[in-house]
Amino acid sequence: MKLRCSLGMTTSAIRLPSQLFLDGAFQRSRSGRHTSLINPATEQAFCEVDAADVAEVDASIVSAHRAWESGWRDMSPGKRTEILFNVSRVLRENIEHIAQLERLQVGKPIADARDEAGLGARVFEYYAGGITRFYGQTIPVSRGGFDFTLRQSMGVVAAIVPWNFPFPIACWKVAPALAAGNCVVLKPASISPLTALLLGELAHSAGLPPGVLQVLPGSGSVIGDALVNHPLIRKVSFTGSTEIGRRIMELASRDLKRVSLELGGKSPNIVFADSDWQKAAECSPMSVFANTGQDCCARSRMFVERPIYEGFVERFVAATRQLKVGDPALETTQLGPLVSSGQRATVEEFLANARSCGTRFALGGDRPASQGYYLNPAVLLEPGREDRCWKEEIFGPVVAIVPFDDEAAMLREVNASPYGLSGSLWTNDIRRALRVARAVQSGVLSVNSHSSVHVEAPFGGFKTSGIGRDLGMAAMEGYTELKNVYVAE
Ligand code: NAP
Ligand code: MG
Repeated sequence: MKLRCSLGMTTSAIRLPSQLFLDGAFQRSRSGRHTSLINPATEQAFCEVDAADVAEVDASIVSAHRAWESGWRDMSPGKRTEILFNVSRVLRENIEHIAQLERLQVGKPIADARDEAGLGARVFEYYAGGITRFYGQTIPVSRGGFDFTLRQSMGVVAAIVPWNFPFPIACWKVAPALAAGNCVVLKPASISPLTALLLGELAHSAGLPPGVLQVLPGSGSVIGDALVNHPLIRKVSFTGSTEIGRRIMELASRDLKRVSLELGGKSPNIVFADSDWQKAAECSPMSVFANTGQDCCARSRMFVERPIYEGFVERFVAATRQLKVGDPALETTQLGPLVSSGQRATVEEFLANARSCGTRFALGGDRPASQGYYLNPAVLLEPGREDRCWKEEIFGPVVAIVPFDDEAAMLREVNASPYGLSGSLWTNDIRRALRVARAVQSGVLSVNSHSSVHVEAPFGGFKTSGIGRDLGMAAMEGYTELKNVYVAE
């Protein structure tokens, strides 16, 4: 299992988990399938990871179900708390390993990768603490007697996660599902299985019993349907594209499996003239370009009140020029490459469409280096409404900025999007802040900030951005069934 990294990183050997993690151990795939991982910063293949087939989907779910029935479901809350706190501790001890794997597989800047590894550990800590604070109700029913609710685990949950934040998103599905007493089969994206596999191994080393967390790398097109359709799967928790989210919901409807779907976004960033707009201009580039724009919360539509529009754009462009695009191994890098050549090609198609629509580019959109899937962040000004960059999720480093005159008309345009995930608004008028925060149709909104994710608060979308919530106690509720028990007097 110890493979040397073939990337010129001769000083340190980074252990690359390369097999399925099932029943508490790494196992070769019996199918002989594998996925070749490409480092997006170098375009070099660096590792081959086994990929599961349909037979292994069935075996892993059956085994997870056995682990649920034979122990995890009925383990005392105190013992489950202890194990999940231990998982959190072990993850913290392995932040550097997790971060280096994330950097290699998706080109994540190393400083961000460390932060995200720490976030994953914090998520386990939060839900470990939540287990014994997760209350039912006693209900004074009109006929007398004693009535109370129980939150009960579901069984086996399928967690299907994407490549943009592979480790934290895996944690924020796995941790609440386990805390609520379920077992989990985790399917990472084909191009980013390493940190999910390491999570399985580390959680097991921290005391999680075999079978409680199964990690099944493999192609969604090969094993996705088998996973979603399996009769022992009671809930599918998915983050990814709207297209696959719809498919999962359709399949799940056959036997009414629960679903939670965190899909795309086209989030607004609204800047009023009465705000500290100079500060907003300086920090807004990272609200859309962080993670090279591959973020469902990216504030890719900016609405700036007309009196400050020109000054805002000037500062925004100047701040964007300062961003450090480059090698994700460097501590100072802010934007790494896009995750794959395919993802960069998709983004470049959007940019070609913008050019053909006559949209003005204030900056960027070109390739800064001959090797690696890099793209300089692009700032588009006042795109025509036929420009796809204005309406569709791009998932790359592209922002479009427009001026607005009227609050109500601006809000109509904000809410015309089929998406409703996140957004920001900048104002120093408290009444306006409250009014606009209520009016924007999104699951998450921040005022005078770009923060979307708090471990303790619910995260998810309105409209086609999704169903259900990750994070906070709302996520833990979503991994339970609600039972009412009535006891006659
Ligand atoms: P995707 O296909 O939705 O992938 C997300 C996850 O779903 C991956 O683990 C994927 O596995 C799996 N999957 C694929 N087909 C499946 C199926 N039939 N049944 C069950 N699971 C399946 O997303 P993508 O193709 O990687 O990216 C396409 C676009 O989706 C992006 O450009 C972006 O716009 C959007 N996206 C959004 C988010 C988000 O955070 N909301 C995240 C990623 C992508 P494989 O990797 O093996 O295919
Ligand atoms: Mg796909």
